[in-house]
Amino acid sequence: MSYKNKRGSAIRAIAGAAIALAALIAVIAVIGDPAGRSPRTANSGAGTQPTTQSVATEATKETESTQKPTESETTTTAETTTTVETTTSETTTAETTVAGDGKAMNPKNYEEAIDTEREASKRVYLTFDDGPSVHTNEILDILKKYGIKATFFNIGVTNEELKAAEKRAYDEGHTLAIHTITHDYEQLYSSFDAWKADVLGEQENIKSNTGITTKYYRFPGGTSNSKGAKYGTDISQCVNWLDENGYLFFDWNVDSRDADGKTYTADQLANNVIESVTGSEGEDFIVLMHDAKPKTTTVQALPKVIETLKSEGYTFCQITDNTKQIHHHLYEG
Ligand SMILES: [Zn+2]
Repeated sequence: MSYKNKRGSAIRAIAGAAIALAALIAVIAVIGDPAGRSPRTANSGAGTQPTTQSVATEATKETESTQKPTESETTTTAETTTTVETTTSETTTAETTVAGDGKAMNPKNYEEAIDTEREASKRVYLTFDDGPSVHTNEILDILKKYGIKATFFNIGVTNEELKAAEKRAYDEGHTLAIHTITHDYEQLYSSFDAWKADVLGEQENIKSNTGITTKYYRFPGGTSNSKGAKYGTDISQCVNWLDENGYLFFDWNVDSRDADGKTYTADQLANNVIESVTGSEGEDFIVLMHDAKPKTTTVQALPKVIETLKSEGYTFCQITDNTKQIHHHLYEG
């Protein structure tokens, strides 16, 4: 064999070995692929995808929760300090929204409630004052039918059926809030101490009936009421007490006008709400309605309000620590 031939056969041998090696690698790859990679991919898919999603969700939450206080800060007036305090720390606020024995949340589905608020671009909060009443169960049925939650600013009741309706509202995930025991302006605004006793008394009513406490409050007559001045209570002192004791109070920026002297039909009440919401630029609408015995038309107006605003892209939310606090100006005489 010549040198040239030798070299040629050596090259062929190397080439042959290389081809064999390549073939072997290919075979290993083919065998290894379905046996090894696919399950690993499936596993990693199952393992990493939710992680990625939850990271994304957290990131979204952070971004949104830092945006929200800014909105609130710029739009609230007198109670800026409270607003900042209650909206900057998601973890703290969630933990402090404990009630009763420190374990129960109000609303019951707190995390879901704040998620619903965050994911919405335009939020409508239906709030019902002065219940529970003979209409509470009808209202709850309607809310359930449409799969939405609301907020109830309640008064003191002793009737067992009404107490059961209040408990049902909590059990079905709505926000419970304090309004007053008696709704007797002359009595509850007769002094600061009388007002405070009224707040704490209604807190006790809710606690004994449902097992939870609540940090949400609405002044009878609203923060801007003239009854305090008339009967001897400085509402700003009440506001300070609420702030110092961890309460959040809410007025409204949409009035259904179901408590006006004029009696509206159900259709007119629905239009009062719909026109007020859709005719405004804001993103957060707290709607004043009443859950009281004479307010049959309020109940009848609900389906139209809900259907129309849903179709217009609004999301129905319930009050939480993250809700923009709508505050009226204090009455100045
Ligand atoms: Zn009221």
